[in-house]
Amino acid sequence: MEFSSNRRKKFISSHQAEIYGHPLQFYGQPPLENISLMEFETFAVDRLKLLKTIENLGVSYLKGSDDYKKKLNNESKNLNFPYRLEADDRKPQIGLSEHEKRRKDHISHFILRLAYCQTEDLRRWFIQQEVDLFRYRFNELIAKQKLEFMHRNNLQYDTISVAEKKTLQEKLINSSYAVSGITVEEQDFYKVPFQDALDLVRSRRVYLKAGYAYIPHQDIVAIVLNDFRTRISKALALTARSLPAVHSDERLQPLLNHLSHAYVGQDYSIQKNVGKISLEQIDSLSVKSFPLCKRQLHQALKENHHLRHGGRMQYGLFLKGIGLSLEQALQFWRSEFIRGKVDADKFDKQYTYGIRHMYGKEGKRADYTPYSCMKVILSNLPSQGDHHGCPFRHSDQELLKQKLQSYKVSPSGINQILELVKGMHYQLACQKYFELTHNIEEANFSLNHPNQYFIESQRVIVGGKDIKREVGTSQRSQENSAIKGSTGAPEPAAKAPQDLAEMTEDLDSFFQDA
Ligand code: SF4
Repeated sequence: MEFSSNRRKKFISSHQAEIYGHPLQFYGQPPLENISLMEFETFAVDRLKLLKTIENLGVSYLKGSDDYKKKLNNESKNLNFPYRLEADDRKPQIGLSEHEKRRKDHISHFILRLAYCQTEDLRRWFIQQEVDLFRYRFNELIAKQKLEFMHRNNLQYDTISVAEKKTLQEKLINSSYAVSGITVEEQDFYKVPFQDALDLVRSRRVYLKAGYAYIPHQDIVAIVLNDFRTRISKALALTARSLPAVHSDERLQPLLNHLSHAYVGQDYSIQKNVGKISLEQIDSLSVKSFPLCKRQLHQALKENHHLRHGGRMQYGLFLKGIGLSLEQALQFWRSEFIRGKVDADKFDKQYTYGIRHMYGKEGKRADYTPYSCMKVILSNLPSQGDHHGCPFRHSDQELLKQKLQSYKVSPSGINQILELVKGMHYQLACQKYFELTHNIEEANFSLNHPNQYFIESQRVIVGGKDIKREVGTSQRSQENSAIKGSTGAPEPAAKAPQDLAEMTEDLDSFFQDA
């Protein structure tokens, strides 16, 4: 049946009224309306920022603590997502701005599903952050809204009978913080398979019998969350199946690919300090101020007098970002390579062009930007003989441990780092490495970029004197960031998606291994 434009509009608005009638969503129905590419991109990048904040807060604060809630509340407010969910309950109808926030929440969730369904790693990360966001939001609802939410989404769980409650009364009181002798009779208890309430089982906050958990009504969030997790997990698997169709859309493909590696901060492409770092300083800077990924590349280059193309690109762009001029870069790479198996002539023929290209002096003359952590972590995975990648993500745990020991990180520091790595918090592990190697209690930044690591390190060591940048001018908009391509090639500063594949291919071809 063909809808006329008016009927379609009416249909969409009643669909929205139904979905946005409650501050919390289960994301059961995808959005139906048309949106601009600009909105698509802004919504996606903002949600990504929110999920990144959730990840960081989850490690720095106790989930659900006042500080955690306050910071998450502020971030939701700043990014224009729903916050203070109980506030609108007193109004008969939601206002326009609240409607917009819920719409943004709905659409952005579905866009990120497309971007994050592609690999197991991405799916796991996305589910974890979405579940934490949902938990926070559900707990912010008042009791009436919780019930309404469950009713709207057909969440009906089995309650135990009055007789069973009476028989188990003492055990129920003893096993749960949420129950006292006075309230036990007044509230419902849900009986669910224990694996549906692992959070409560893990924290010993629930009565267990014969494989079932008896959950008091106050702790209902545990079951709802489990339901939410299962639904998103299934939805991501289903979404992954439709990817070939989505990828055939040449407007969306680079955008979605980039979103899964997305970096939403400064791009470090414009230098105010070009040439302020001398080649002689690099050895000592690599020890004091390089993140582990670049320290390892520098060390490998010194030992082997060669790096394969993945390493050359990651390290070369990083050095460009910290201020190495083109002339210095040529001198740097040449002096190392000719100590190995490459003679000066071969270097000039095979490598000079590639380095000049990286600096925008050849080919399309693009301003290539250093790789962000997400890009290092998620793209162009290192294989044997490679030294690029993120050691926190790509190194074997034992190897990482040995490396940290050789860099004089204390045993307790190493344990803290390995715990974060186990939880797949690679950037936080790197941040911990920063704190330990700079002897500071807490890094007051959220690490997203190897060049940011360098700048923050210099700030601690020399007060940021020679490395200051004018953040205002070099800060790229998220829009630019999100349309960059996702190949293993460097990221040009700002280009339309259709140019991008061509450009990165172009540069890639100059980095073939010798
Ligand atoms: Fe490098 Fe980022 Fe990994 Fe640290 S977290 S080692 S800066 S990629």
